Amino acid sequence: MTNHTSFVLPAATIAGMRVDASNREAGNAIHNASTGEIIGWQEHADAAQVDAAVRAAHGALDAWRNQPPVARGKVLRRIAELLAANRAQLSSMQQQVSGKPPLEADTDVSDAIATFDYYADLCADASLFAADTLALPDDTVTGERHYEAVGVAALIVPWNFPMVTTAWKIAPALAAGCTAVLKPSEFTSPVEHRLAEIVTAAGVPDGVVNLVNGGGEVGALLAAHPLVDKISFTGSTAVGRKVMQAAAQDMKRLTLELGGKSALIVRADADIEHAVALAVGGAFTNAGQMCSATSRIIVHDDVYRKFVAAFEAAVRALVVAPPHIGNVAMGPLVSRAQRERVQALLEQGIAGGAAIAFSGALENACAEGFFMAPVVIAEPDTANVLWTEEVFGPVACVKSFRTDDEAIALANDTRYGLVATVATRDEDAARRYRRALRAGLVWINTPQLIFPQVCWGGLGLSGIGRELGVAGLRSYQELRHAIVSRGSDLA
Ligand code: NAD
Repeated sequence: MTNHTSFVLPAATIAGMRVDASNREAGNAIHNASTGEIIGWQEHADAAQVDAAVRAAHGALDAWRNQPPVARGKVLRRIAELLAANRAQLSSMQQQVSGKPPLEADTDVSDAIATFDYYADLCADASLFAADTLALPDDTVTGERHYEAVGVAALIVPWNFPMVTTAWKIAPALAAGCTAVLKPSEFTSPVEHRLAEIVTAAGVPDGVVNLVNGGGEVGALLAAHPLVDKISFTGSTAVGRKVMQAAAQDMKRLTLELGGKSALIVRADADIEHAVALAVGGAFTNAGQMCSATSRIIVHDDVYRKFVAAFEAAVRALVVAPPHIGNVAMGPLVSRAQRERVQALLEQGIAGGAAIAFSGALENACAEGFFMAPVVIAEPDTANVLWTEEVFGPVACVKSFRTDDEAIALANDTRYGLVATVATRDEDAARRYRRALRAGLVWINTPQLIFPQVCWGGLGLSGIGRELGVAGLRSYQELRHAIVSRGSDLA
């Protein structure tokens, strides 16, 4: 364990109890991304502790799923209230660990609150949980349909929106009547530990939500555990494949929210100032560490020069700085390793022929943290790694097009399919793009708005299944049917 740290997170929280690591050396340091300093230490769970966490969730399952949905909804509402009451603390923890600008950290808290509130509302709608009858073309029988909790859910999340991706899983899992074992990312777990405390304080019974700390090995142990019925995983496509293989052994139910390589299309009729705002937000929010980053910006020839000039001015004006600096617009990357990964990919792209058109600048206060200035590449080859691979950092590419068909073909020329954005003032064109773009969610002239009512998830390598919305609830339920004879002799 490292000295001079201000906190130590336990290896696990199982049935409401803090569980320390069997080997106190097994763990990792938590950094402040804006200063590079070590601010804490997190212990890692061992195989026995992962097993104990899953068994605790299994033991708590029947009592929790047999509660009326309305009762579960009240607990979810209480979680939302406690998140709101702890907003300042949760926001500042995110700023400290990830270096998110205050507005972004605060938006994450708002998103988590809205998610718990939404699933609290769904719990109040008895029709989503009650059995209903089906009209069948045979009057000697009746059909019945109902949904029931899948069981124990393993929830594995990344570091880029830690509280948000976790809320998107815990809220529907609890609403459905599942119990859970959460594995946060090893880089950003403090906020999830606080969230777990809030979940307990809200009245979620012991054992219903458990937490295990660790890296990929701990995630793998959890994904392979035979008492886990469902895995909801958010992370890279590469790890998603491993999780899918682990799920195959026991036919575990699976939701995968994976990577992306999304496009922003700027048509000739777009409001250019607005399109530039969409480009900056889509590529550089959270320092580009977004599965939904629109890092391929496709601009009509007629407005290309005008767009690129305005985009350059906006990127050069972006204040890249630690969260405490006034009007900060972009923070650091999450870790030194992530910055090295992004820079290596950038160098690979340049070696492959990509040229930097312009970049932003770093404030003086960025010297010690994991900062990287935003970079824009103009007209890369479509085979260039910066055009094809998810960079997960502040690197965007701009490319021109002449016809809508060409723009659609460029946007769809990827095996991912998470989101897309279109800037246009032409309603017919907008309608056409909405249908033609292969993406789970298309924004037309809006920034990347997210509502818990709207499902999230992608096509192709971006994953399987949907989170949020009613589909998000259903993903933690099994659909079951019965066909019952109306025969009076059975009465
Ligand atoms: P990652 O895949 O490296 O890790 C994600 C989580 O999986 C972490 O908790 C990690 O410890 C765990 N893990 C690692 N190996 C594992 C294994 N073998 N079995 C089980 N768990 C394992 O991803 P990351 O670097 O933390 O996050 C970045 C990635 O997440 C990007 O590719 C991004 O696109 C994706 N992401 C997707 C969405 C979405 O909604 N589609 C949202 C956020 C992030």
